[in-house]
Amino acid sequence: MQKERVLSGMQSSGKVHIGNLVGAIQNWVRLQDIYECYYFVADWHALTSGYANPSAVRESVNDLLINFLAAGLDPEKCTIFIQSRILEHAELHLLLSMITPLGWLERVPTYKEKQQELKERDLSTYGFLGYPLLQTADIIIYRAKHVPVGVDQVPHLEISREIARRFNNLYEEVFPEPEALLTEFPKVPGVDGRKMSKSYGNAIYLSDSPEEVERKIKTMATDPARVRRTDRGTPELSPVFQLHKIFSTKEEQDEVAEGCRTAGIGCLDCKKVLIKNVFRVLEPIWARRAELIGDPGLLREITQRGNEKARKAARETMGLVREAMGFY
Ligand code: SF4
Repeated sequence: MQKERVLSGMQSSGKVHIGNLVGAIQNWVRLQDIYECYYFVADWHALTSGYANPSAVRESVNDLLINFLAAGLDPEKCTIFIQSRILEHAELHLLLSMITPLGWLERVPTYKEKQQELKERDLSTYGFLGYPLLQTADIIIYRAKHVPVGVDQVPHLEISREIARRFNNLYEEVFPEPEALLTEFPKVPGVDGRKMSKSYGNAIYLSDSPEEVERKIKTMATDPARVRRTDRGTPELSPVFQLHKIFSTKEEQDEVAEGCRTAGIGCLDCKKVLIKNVFRVLEPIWARRAELIGDPGLLREITQRGNEKARKAARETMGLVREAMGFY
């Protein structure tokens, strides 16, 4: 039986961190056994806010690909490709821009939020406003049935559904309306306690050396009320404990929480347990990263294969689109 198709992508706007790993890539690895998955490096998306520095966007493409594979994406089970290598995305984006009312784009909640967040960049561009449209093209060009999203991203998918519906109503039924594959994304704090983000400079990267990871965790923010070793702490207020919830076993979580509340352990003891568990996850990734970095031909071959497969699927859809619109 034909598996249902899933599509998801990640912007090449910097290095991959453990928030990306546990929030997206590990979920992709699970999905590749259940669905027909298409995963891509969204380099054009990264340009919508990073257009002033295209070389940085370009440079992080390989880092993403290496980390996708190192974290367990299997090119025999899923299709891994680079967005800008499939020119059909741009054609569909253009055609969709003809039929999408401006108001739909302006009302996307993150449009103004992100402009605020990245105040130092000039984001009053068409490309930035049209971001959801490019995202829609990415999804519907593969006629994907599902897109893994968190609850807060459902409105983003709604616009893609509306645009697909509008195309189908105006011309012919070409696109299935993509559905949300609701996914719980764990909240991953950065080393300063804020959300882990490249732009905050608080991330632990998959490309960090073991020494760097250890140093970052050892200097990580804790419950601010626990100043001295004898102070009792509240684990729920400590970003270190939030990472324990992701990386440590239930027994270990209970032990460190108890030790924190009673001042039975120091923060360094607590962090050592976390370091051990983060290493357990990262060590196989580091080993696989080293293999891939040492064999650029393999990475190229895997990506070319993925690009070709994606291009074939995108071309099939564009054939239907041109036919529906009467543009041969
Ligand atoms: S003992 Fe652990 S959980 Fe408690 S404040 Fe220190 S680092 Fe955070």
